[in-house]
Amino acid sequence: MTVTVGGFEFDIEGMNEKLKREGIGKILLQVPDGLRRKIGVFQDAIEAEVTVWGGTCYGACDLPLDIGESEALVHVGHTEIPGLKVDYPVFYVEGRNTVSRPHPQDLSEMMVGEVALYSTVQYLEQMDSVARYLEDRGCTVAIGKGDDRIKYPGQLLGCNFSARVDGALTHLYVGTGRFHPLGLSLSLKKEVLIFDPVTGEMGSTYPDADRMIRRRFATIQRIRESTRTGIIVSQKQGQRRFDTARDMCRLCEVHCTVVEFDEIEPHLVDSFDWDGLVNTACPRLALDDSIRFEDPVVTPVEYIIAQGEMDWEDWTMDEIKG
Ligand code: SF4
Repeated sequence: MTVTVGGFEFDIEGMNEKLKREGIGKILLQVPDGLRRKIGVFQDAIEAEVTVWGGTCYGACDLPLDIGESEALVHVGHTEIPGLKVDYPVFYVEGRNTVSRPHPQDLSEMMVGEVALYSTVQYLEQMDSVARYLEDRGCTVAIGKGDDRIKYPGQLLGCNFSARVDGALTHLYVGTGRFHPLGLSLSLKKEVLIFDPVTGEMGSTYPDADRMIRRRFATIQRIRESTRTGIIVSQKQGQRRFDTARDMCRLCEVHCTVVEFDEIEPHLVDSFDWDGLVNTACPRLALDDSIRFEDPVVTPVEYIIAQGEMDWEDWTMDEIKG
C-alpha cells in the first residue's frame, strides 16, 4: 500500500514486507514535524505494534538515542545517511513528490556549458526528468555522486553538498524552497538556478547568497570581541562533532566551555553567561538560525578565521562530511 500525504507518496507496503521478513512486531515511528498531524494514516497502515516518537525529527541525522521497548525504528520522510551507524535496526520510508508541472519551454536555452543537476530525495524523479529533457536538446548534463553521507547521485542535504560538480558552468537545483540551493550556492561560491517542479517557476540564489556571505563576515568580526565563548555540541547522532569542538576549544585564547545539548534552544543557550558561540552541531544553525540567539554564532571555519589562523578569502561553507 502506498500512502499519499500532502502530495508525497510513501511506500508503506515495501516497508511492511521488510518488517515481516525480519520478524519485527513492535516499532517506534518517527515522522518530521510536517507529518505529525497525519500520524494516524501511517500508524494504521503499518502492520506492527506502533509507538510514536514524540521528540524532534529534523532529518536522518536526528534518530533517537534509544528506541525503548521497540524492536526497530521506522523513520518517515528522509533518506538514510549511509555512513551513519546506530545500534538498532532502522527502516526508512522516503517521501516522493507526485505533483509536477511541465518544464519552462526555454529551460534548455537558459543553460550554459555543462549543466550540473541537484535535488533532494523528494524530487529525484523530477531531476531525472529534467536531465532527459536537457540531454534531448543537446545539453551536457552532470550529476555528482556525493560522499558517504549521501545516498543518491545529485542528492543534497542542508549540511552536505558533496554531490557538487565544481567544474560545471551551470548549476541547476530541481526542487522546492531555497534552503538547499542557498547552501549549495555558498558551498560552490557560485549562483545556483532553481527550477521548482511544483509551481513550474524558475529562480536563482542571487542575491541572497551574497547577502548571507556579507552577514557571515560581520558575525566573524563580532566574535573577535568574545571573552567567554561557548562551544556547542549536539547529542544528535548525525550531528555530533565532538573532535571539532575540542579543536575549537584548543584554539580559543579566552575562557571557553564545551556544552552538549540534546535540543539547542535559545532559552537554554542564552541562560549561560557567554558572549560568543561556536556551533559544531547542524551547520545551518549558525547560517540560518543565528538570529534566534543573543550572541554571535559562528561555524568552526569562521572561528578559525576569527582567531587569525585562516584568511577570510578562504572561507568555506561548514559541512558535515560522510
Ligand atoms: S545536520 Fe542539519 S542539515 Fe544536516 S541532515 Fe541534519 S538537520 Fe539536515
